[in-house]
Amino acid sequence: RSAVVIVGAGMAGVQTAMALRELGWREDITLLGDEPHPPYDRPPLSKAVLLDAAAPAGAGGAGVDVRFDVDFDALGVDLRLGLRAQALHAADRIVVTEAGPLPYDHLVLATGAYPVALPGTAGLPGVHLLRTLDDAAALRPVLDSRQQVVVVGAGWIGAEFATAARQAGCEVTVVEAADRPLSGVLPEVVTTPMRGWYAEAGVDLRTGTPVSAVEPGAVVLADGSRLAAGAVVVGVGARPATGWLAGSGVELGEDGAVVADDRLRTTAPGVFAVGDCASFPSARYGERMLIHHWDNALQGPRTAAANLLGGDERYDPVPYFWSEQFGRFVQYAGHHTDADTLVLRGDPDSAAWSVCWLRADGVLAAVLVVDRPRDLAQARKLIARSAAVDPALAADPTVPLAAA
Ligand code: FAD
Repeated sequence: RSAVVIVGAGMAGVQTAMALRELGWREDITLLGDEPHPPYDRPPLSKAVLLDAAAPAGAGGAGVDVRFDVDFDALGVDLRLGLRAQALHAADRIVVTEAGPLPYDHLVLATGAYPVALPGTAGLPGVHLLRTLDDAAALRPVLDSRQQVVVVGAGWIGAEFATAARQAGCEVTVVEAADRPLSGVLPEVVTTPMRGWYAEAGVDLRTGTPVSAVEPGAVVLADGSRLAAGAVVVGVGARPATGWLAGSGVELGEDGAVVADDRLRTTAPGVFAVGDCASFPSARYGERMLIHHWDNALQGPRTAAANLLGGDERYDPVPYFWSEQFGRFVQYAGHHTDADTLVLRGDPDSAAWSVCWLRADGVLAAVLVVDRPRDLAQARKLIARSAAVDPALAADPTVPLAAA
């Protein structure tokens, strides 16, 4: 029999197994995951899971059920949980695990990413990261007892955690080394109104103030200020979980990502890579993309599975993600650069507005919407077919984007 081994039982790994079966693979599939819990979905971990009255599912309580609704037995998938892949010998087609060597004919890397820790804080009591169900379970008592929280990093996770902590009644300070939230991702026109969201929710946002030390019960900032903290939540980004692939024959980029091609093949024969752990070249955007969002872990596996089975499909998606923060539904589709022209669609101080980015040739490159899901749906289609839009019409929120 021929064997597919998938390493990483998160969204991308599970989707790969499902896609393989849907596309007709009848031979063996082994799905390896190092976490002890049945495969589950991460986005609710910084949202509903933190706030649900009961304890998180899989962590001892009924709670919000984040488990994927997949019957692995019925799919004929050999799910091995609590088992880590330690090394890969690509030349021999063997994955080394704590339980012994696992030979494969085809391998799919889906190990995701791990959150970056603040230097010197790993293992310090009261310092939390937020990536896993266990992380979320450890944060529940912080919210339940309304501890004073310092969040390090005003990114997507920081904003979502701050939202939940405020909702639970915690006093929350968010410290950000850059001069504004999401500075690496979004321009000031968009992040300035976001400052207001923090203020409105009663969150003390301190920007331009890097953390210089975390001490028991306090966070010390570079400007000398000292913030009391019952708990510290660090949300300063994530890195591909690929350390175990060093020297394996699979090329890794400087960003730590598995270097995949536009078919999601890696540099080793028979080895594919999907989700948060892999980068791929986008012809659509003319650059290599490393995407840490849910939709990429949904779409990539379909392409990888098709190509593993002998297909020849290019992976070049229109990236998409959403975030729920401070009572708002924020969505983004596409990819923009500083060279693109920004068109505001509505007043960013109002409840609902959007931003479009247009390329020099007028083609819609990206859109960010705040509580305007219809704009998002229409923009996604326009971006997919590289449609040009009229900037004057796009700036008028009463004109549907599809008619701009
Ligand atoms: P992962 O989900 O990280 O799964 C990889 C799995 O592989 C993990 O279980 C890991 O433990 C395991 N693994 C790693 N190394 C090994 C090894 N050597 N051997 C065996 N197993 C291994 N995206 C959005 O678009 N919108 C959101 O609102 C949103 N919210 C999020 C909230 C949180 C708290 C987090 C953490 C992420 C959120 N995301 C969101 C991002 C989204 O969840 C990820 O992009 C998605 O989970 C990536 O899936 P993946 O399967 O590639 O990686």
